[in-house]
Amino acid sequence: AAKKNGSGSIVVASKELVREFEESKNLERDFKVALQKNEIIPYFQPKVNLQTNKIIGLEALARWVHPQKGIISPITFIPLAEEIGLVYKLDMKIAELTIKTVKDWQERGIIDKGFKASFNVSAQTFGEIDVYEQIKYLLDKYDVPGEAVEIELTESVFIKKFSKILGELNSIKDKLGTSVALDDFTAGYSSLRELGKLNIDSLKFDRSLLESVKENSVKGKKIYRTLIRLCSDMDYISVAEGIEEASESDFLKKEGVTHAQGFFFGKPMPEKDFVNLLNKGL
Ligand code: C2E
Ligand code: MG
Ligand code: MG
Ligand code: MG
Repeated sequence: AAKKNGSGSIVVASKELVREFEESKNLERDFKVALQKNEIIPYFQPKVNLQTNKIIGLEALARWVHPQKGIISPITFIPLAEEIGLVYKLDMKIAELTIKTVKDWQERGIIDKGFKASFNVSAQTFGEIDVYEQIKYLLDKYDVPGEAVEIELTESVFIKKFSKILGELNSIKDKLGTSVALDDFTAGYSSLRELGKLNIDSLKFDRSLLESVKENSVKGKKIYRTLIRLCSDMDYISVAEGIEEASESDFLKKEGVTHAQGFFFGKPMPEKDFVNLLNKGL
């Protein structure tokens, strides 16, 4: 495309490429150092049982607590980590710190047996490492039962290494007892045909689906109801993401959604704050 626009834009394009390259080289170094120094850590967001209003688990979300730049969002660094092929290191670091925290809380009696801590695993990670072996290693290292954790997969699993991922997921579920959730449902590459091949425990409805509920759109609500019905037929736990208002929570509760997550219940927060929230309740 740059060629068609004449030589001027070629210069701009190549300059941009060089800068991107230089930045990503710095980023690669900075990113590896940050992982080693535990500058990249999980924040924890509560997951709530809508019918009982109790916190039943959490999602671990990566935050880069940068000494100069402050807290950097994963939306900024995850695409870059994927580009340089290092997202697996991030995923396993967040998994390890989360599993370690779960062990600590179990020992302190802060959480009960049913509590589940979820972490995100990128489709790319399945191409780089044996995810089953790595999670097994971490669970053994901290002596945490597989049932206490869950992995969240984005829909990009459908386009990358789908059959390899299917095999590893089955081992993770069958041998470790770890749950699997499909994240961001209908935000991207959802395919109902492929969904049938995937052995999952829960389906997370993307936040964008709630917009039509907020706007009180009849069709939007019907789509939501259809997805809830799909979950009950398939024996999936339904999880609504991105609840910001009481009206949304009320609608989802009335329609029978099982679990929910969103700023309305709690934002992603550092470990200490999450422990306080567990102590005081919602
Ligand atoms: P996700 O897995 O779908 O996580 C939910 C995102 O929605 C989080 O964004 C969370 O902060 C945000 N969120 C939760 N409730 C609300 C709400 O009520 N309103 C709004 N506006 N947003 C809400 P976050 O933390 O910025 O993470 C973005 C994405 O980055 C995640 O989306 C996930 O795909 C990815 N991610 C985060 N941590 C990791 C990680 O350790 N590994 C990998 N592979 N991906 C990660
Ligand atoms: Mg997620
Ligand atoms: Mg999500
Ligand atoms: Mg999402």
